[in-house]
Amino acid sequence: MAEITMEKIISWAKRRGFVFQGSEIYGGLGGAYDFGPLGVELLNNIKAFWWKKVVQDREDYYGLDTAIFRHPRVWEASGHTTGFSDPMAECKNCNTRVRADKELIKIGVTADEKMSEEEIGKLFKENLGKIKCVKCGKSDFTDVRKFNLLIKSNYGDFTTKNTEPVYLPGEACQGIYLNYKNTLDSMHPKIPFGIAQIGKAFRNEISPRNFLFRCREFEQADTQYFIRPNENKDKYEEIKQERWKWHMDLGLSEKNLRWKQHENLVFYASDAWDIEYNFPTYGFDEIEGVHDRTDYDLTQHTKFSGVDLSYNEDGKKFIPWILETSMGVGRVFLAVISEAYVEEEVKDETRTVLKFPKHLAPIKVAILPLSKKDELSKPAREIFENLKDHFVCQYDETQSIGKRYRRQDEIGTPYCVTVDFDTLNDNAVTVRDRDTMKQERIDIKELLGYLQDRLK
Ligand SMILES: [Zn+2]
Repeated sequence: MAEITMEKIISWAKRRGFVFQGSEIYGGLGGAYDFGPLGVELLNNIKAFWWKKVVQDREDYYGLDTAIFRHPRVWEASGHTTGFSDPMAECKNCNTRVRADKELIKIGVTADEKMSEEEIGKLFKENLGKIKCVKCGKSDFTDVRKFNLLIKSNYGDFTTKNTEPVYLPGEACQGIYLNYKNTLDSMHPKIPFGIAQIGKAFRNEISPRNFLFRCREFEQADTQYFIRPNENKDKYEEIKQERWKWHMDLGLSEKNLRWKQHENLVFYASDAWDIEYNFPTYGFDEIEGVHDRTDYDLTQHTKFSGVDLSYNEDGKKFIPWILETSMGVGRVFLAVISEAYVEEEVKDETRTVLKFPKHLAPIKVAILPLSKKDELSKPAREIFENLKDHFVCQYDETQSIGKRYRRQDEIGTPYCVTVDFDTLNDNAVTVRDRDTMKQERIDIKELLGYLQDRLK
């Protein structure tokens, strides 16, 4: 069996309408990807599963959808305008900026983005002769400086100076803090409670890479759980377990998941763990972070906005502590397709099949008349019309039935319903199972119930 590489998955994702390079006809725009006709179905299914489990099934969680553009002071309060940066050095010959930590790792020197500017700067200087500019190949760099990742806009600014720019969000979750008080005043939740949202975030990554893994535009699914001061330890463990279970329920396998604790904590954080997924080619990397953030966020926003964000419990006022979960939606999408992508040898041929969990499959049932002739397309259309109210269906009458089965396998459709000439006599159809490739003859009257049992 040939090895499953990320290269194969990227090529499949384009060929089968799941993910395209952003602005491809113009040569592509680095760090931006577009979800295709089947990709958007899968993406929506993943987000809907998150929303159902995290918001709708819970009595202690509230959902939000906040504006992308936020007041400039938000990013001062959060620390993003000063601290949200990567260590960079600029090539003196061609002005290309490189990530100092990444270049050090390339030549075998241990470095990471959380080290201080001085530490990385010193290492970079010591190894200068060995580091070459990615563009021109010269080894002549400026000192290492921190380069901010926020992307500016000219939102509401009609001057040429744009002195107080409105940034695109560097992280989605700030919208939750901004509406913490509105949620309190309108919904009257009792502490502890959570607020959740799925939102876009933007970072000016110097080197976007690894397909959907590190983009300049991406989506995050975040929760902030508000608790009483010092009641963090047990609840943090509980939330960690809930998030682990969610990924398993989504359909990721335990052998491909692991926990990793942060070695370098930001000064206010009490604990931080990542859930990592074992991607083909890339190996284990973060898909979600679970962070114990103490009272930092609401204290900062109280300070910068001047609005008291404390919680009043029976006359006792305090700033709630926060336990945060932050999941990269694109990263989980990539994990789901990596997990599902299988190549099997079937009768000396390689069958590519996407074994998506049924609840995530973009198309649940394909209706395939054996021939385009009216006598078959008429009953097949009728079946399609009846089923499409219950499942996302696809009607396909092009090419040979073998090719159509292969195509449905490649997009991960759990069931194919074939209408053939026997159907005209026995009022039955052939249902083919994606995973076993077994075929069963099912009476048309029983078809809906048969599929409902298997797709629920
Ligand atoms: Zn250069």
